[in-house]
Amino acid sequence: MSDFYSLLGVARGAGEADIKKAYRKLAMEYHPDRNSSADAEAKFKEITEAYEVLRDPQKRAAYDRYGKAGVGAGAGAYGFHHVDLSEALNIFMRDFGGFESIFGGMGRQQSESRRGQDIRVTVKLSLREVATGVKKTVKLKSLERCATCDGSGAKPGTHPQRCGTCGGTGEVRRTAQSVFGQFVSVAPCPTCGGQGEVIAEPCEVCRGEGRVRGDRSVTVEIPAGVSDNNYLTLRGQGAAGPRNGPNGDLLVMLDIKEDERFERQGESLVYDLPLSFSQAALGGEFTIPSPLGEQRVEVPAGTQTGTVLRVKGKGLPRLGGGGHGDLQVRVHVWTPEKLTPEQERLLRELATIEGEPPQRGNGFWARLKEALGA
Ligand SMILES: [Zn+2]
Ligand SMILES: [Zn+2]
Repeated sequence: MSDFYSLLGVARGAGEADIKKAYRKLAMEYHPDRNSSADAEAKFKEITEAYEVLRDPQKRAAYDRYGKAGVGAGAGAYGFHHVDLSEALNIFMRDFGGFESIFGGMGRQQSESRRGQDIRVTVKLSLREVATGVKKTVKLKSLERCATCDGSGAKPGTHPQRCGTCGGTGEVRRTAQSVFGQFVSVAPCPTCGGQGEVIAEPCEVCRGEGRVRGDRSVTVEIPAGVSDNNYLTLRGQGAAGPRNGPNGDLLVMLDIKEDERFERQGESLVYDLPLSFSQAALGGEFTIPSPLGEQRVEVPAGTQTGTVLRVKGKGLPRLGGGGHGDLQVRVHVWTPEKLTPEQERLLRELATIEGEPPQRGNGFWARLKEALGA
């Protein structure tokens, strides 16, 4: 097993936020609710173990010093053990919440023996697509109803016959005698496997299965405002069941590409706006990006670094309607690293006439702290 840092793909000096981000990214890829491949579960447990140690400053310090022995079983307060799947799922749920189906979310129908399998697909979305909602077409490779026998499994021209053993009920009953009296047990019919019918001459294309491998395209309408904790359930769009059994469901997972320009906080987006000293001092109107194109923001004269300006309703739409979040513009006053001779001359001139910054303890600092929410 490899090093916890390389498992998460972070540097040894990575901060807590980076560790959390790196883990979440991997977990979204390997979470068993989102990835049904065989290795995903093992990988999910592995990265969750690494995360659970590195997110905890004490465990992390012990790990940095002593390696796995420092956090291994018997390591006292830092007791660490391999997590099983349900622990790993709980850790993910504790820090990142579960997945929420945004439609078709009623309890799953009774699992039927002849129901086809569910299919999971992941759809990649940009932030702009989250802002507008989008239709995506996904190509599925799955089991489709056999066209030759129309799903019955019987060779064309023949029909499945009622099972002679169970008389078509699919069940066999046995009456037995016990000390408590007579009782009846019910079991699936061994002849027809509980289907009530037997196929004398199977369809040659599907060999009596009633379904064959095939491709299909499905168009998925993704509403505006989704997050990657949401998934969509499309009832009956999964694999066909054997011999005209009901289809499984199609589960559409969402993978939202991070937009470097914004930090997403629910429906709100935070944008960092760099301003020069003179821009911040004089104020003015500035152009900023948003997922739906450029916006204007009014910066008042005398804006301090760290001030957050709110552009109302220009964030992301709320899932299921109900307006938009805000675009929050966080101002950063930028200090030039190099000056041309002319800039330096003008700044030196300004320095002789500008006022002194206020001293600590002055009411200004209290107001600034308040503005920054500190
Ligand atoms: Zn067939
Ligand atoms: Zn039978």
